[in-house]
Amino acid sequence: MDFDLIIIGGGLAGASLAVALRASRLRIAVVETHLPADVPGWDSRIYAVSPENADFLREIGAWRHLDASRINPVHAMSIRGDAGGSLEFSAYESGLPELAWIVESGRLHRELWETMRRQHNVTLLCGISPVRFSQGAASVTVGLSDGRQANARLVVGADGVNSWVRQQAGIAATFTPYDEVGVVANFRCERGHRNVAYQWFRPDGILALLPLPGKMVSMVWSAPAGCAQELLALDADSLCRRVADATSGELGYLKLETPAAGFPLRLMRVDTTVKSRIAVIGDAAHAIHPLSGHGINLGFKDARELASVLNGLAPWRDPGEIAVLRGYARQRAEEPFLLQNTTHVLNRLFGTANPVLTVLRNVGLNLTDRLPVVRHALVRYAAGGRF
Ligand SMILES: Cc1cc2nc3c(=O)[nH]c(=O)nc-3n(C[C@H](O)[C@H](O)[C@H](O)COP(=O)(O)OP(=O)(O)OC[C@H]3O[C@@H](n4cnc5c(N)ncnc54)[C@H](O)[C@@H]3O)c2cc1C
Repeated sequence: MDFDLIIIGGGLAGASLAVALRASRLRIAVVETHLPADVPGWDSRIYAVSPENADFLREIGAWRHLDASRINPVHAMSIRGDAGGSLEFSAYESGLPELAWIVESGRLHRELWETMRRQHNVTLLCGISPVRFSQGAASVTVGLSDGRQANARLVVGADGVNSWVRQQAGIAATFTPYDEVGVVANFRCERGHRNVAYQWFRPDGILALLPLPGKMVSMVWSAPAGCAQELLALDADSLCRRVADATSGELGYLKLETPAAGFPLRLMRVDTTVKSRIAVIGDAAHAIHPLSGHGINLGFKDARELASVLNGLAPWRDPGEIAVLRGYARQRAEEPFLLQNTTHVLNRLFGTANPVLTVLRNVGLNLTDRLPVVRHALVRYAAGGRF
């Protein structure tokens, strides 16, 4: 089978890249081991999609198919420290309609797949894995677990944090485990959330409640491993009481809507995101602490940038040429690095029990709350990942 581009991994990053290339001449194969799962009820994996990425998803036609009654805007953020510090900011004060949109991962994933299925230039190779990789001067050959083989001028690794493509291409990655687990669950609350995203920096981790439609919220509690095991072992009522206590009853009584699940958290950096005939995007290119909610936002921006480079190519140009791929790498070099550093430092700053740092970080939050310039910078950071 001959293609121009093979995308390994049809998660949100890989699928959005394929869809963003729907008008190109490129013949694309998407290799994905698992089809998107149908999640009955509410998905426990929820994303805060930035306005910029909502625009990207609108441009590629996936957004308009999402059920509007299951998406919620974030109009404001309320951040609390662990010793009296607090910081509040809103989209309104910076002239923005919203800071983010809260979207269920599964539904967005399925919409991207539906769009991809209708695409004339995409071949879906599902339920199989790549097993062999060999690179020649003009193409890459990928052997598949069903015995077939696929050739292309460019292979994109969108296959998540343990990327097979990255390993085959010899792109080095450095992992720093946080020794924390992201515990996610959805709750129905007694009081309305008023479209506010809450975040508590606590001695036992960083707890975020994101507003879902109606009186529902989605929790991401980035907790030290021991505490996370305790949370995951609690029955529904005890978990509700524990979260209500940890959030000082801000949203009143809670009722568990979706059972808790845990995800280990780690920082992952790569030496490079491109080599001749290879590029990596999404979590294959960077993993970040979820405290800023920017993980998939970085992945969408990778997909958008790589698609823009490939869509802009003259017909005679080779999409796998390193000079072409460097255009993508240059555009995406700075932002993931800066966000990884910011979230890493914040995580470490709030993860220490040092009494001096405890006072400093809470004074820092209160000071920031009184400085309009810094507050506006934070609004831009929350809405788009840039200061
Ligand atoms: C607890 C938690 C909360 C989070 N909250 C947020 C948030 O609020 N906002 C946000 O932006 N991000 C958040 N993230 C991060 C977000 O989940 C990831 O950034 C995102 O899923 C990455 O998408 P991806 O498509 O790059 O990779 P993945 O979602 O990992 O997709 C990779 C795909 O490749 C497939 N695959 C893997 N290996 C192979 C192979 N060898 N062959 C074929 N297919 C393969 C997999 O089946 C999968 O479909 C959170 C993460 C965690 C852990």
